[in-house]
Amino acid sequence: MTRLKKNFPRRPLVAGNWKMHRTASDTKNLIEDIVQRVQKIANVDMVVCPPFTSLAVAAETLGRHSVLAIGAQNMHQAKEGAFTGEVSGTMLRDLGVRYVILGHSERRHFFNETDTGVAAKATIAVSYLLRPIVCVGETLAQREAKETMAVVEAQLRGSLQGFPKEKLAELVIAYEPVWAIGTGKVATPKQANDVHHKIRAILTDLFGPEGANLRILYGGSVKPENSAALMAENDIDGFLVGGASLDARSFFNIIESARPVRASEND
Ligand code: PEP
Repeated sequence: MTRLKKNFPRRPLVAGNWKMHRTASDTKNLIEDIVQRVQKIANVDMVVCPPFTSLAVAAETLGRHSVLAIGAQNMHQAKEGAFTGEVSGTMLRDLGVRYVILGHSERRHFFNETDTGVAAKATIAVSYLLRPIVCVGETLAQREAKETMAVVEAQLRGSLQGFPKEKLAELVIAYEPVWAIGTGKVATPKQANDVHHKIRAILTDLFGPEGANLRILYGGSVKPENSAALMAENDIDGFLVGGASLDARSFFNIIESARPVRASEND
């Protein structure tokens, strides 16, 4: 695979969001297939985020020192309590979970998640040593009304309110335009990078120069066919992948396209 060269100021990260797919029984095979393909990949952080019911199997299959880290797709902000149907950060951490997706647009849309709720979860997540992947992104109507930057800025500032600066290195942001999620309509590299650039400026405003070093992932119909061009953009540090992460080969090819290029490659 020929990749476009760029500097990699930040270590790339590729996370697979399995959403509500795969039973616990199916999980072992898929994880083993992914691990077998990605085990020689260096210098990329790789994460799989299966449903809650598959997290224990995923942890058991991967063992302690795997190349693949495990993420959850949501969590509740309380440590424990009368919250039927919810799962806490301590419960996730106890299973060996390392990342947690927060504020995914499907959670915002179908489960009424708010920026304030996401902010509370992000702060609690880092107190349990979980790395939050905080998602933001505009709808098609908002993009067409030229509101993208304003919407993303409001979501980002709201979702990071009160986030402890000393835990900044744990934080990951995902820009996921809602119109691109699961639709096959990917943002162009320029469209994505423009928003990533803006997000980086907001992070710098919020947290100072360290904010500029945060990893910003793109998500929305990422496939092996479009990932290299997106990854060539300076402000894109990796991907949050939905559908294509359920196919071990596609997921591997996307990860491979995010791997920093050595000077001797492609020549
Ligand atoms: C997602 O669910 O975060 C996502 C980006 O989905 P897809 O890759 O299927 O568009």
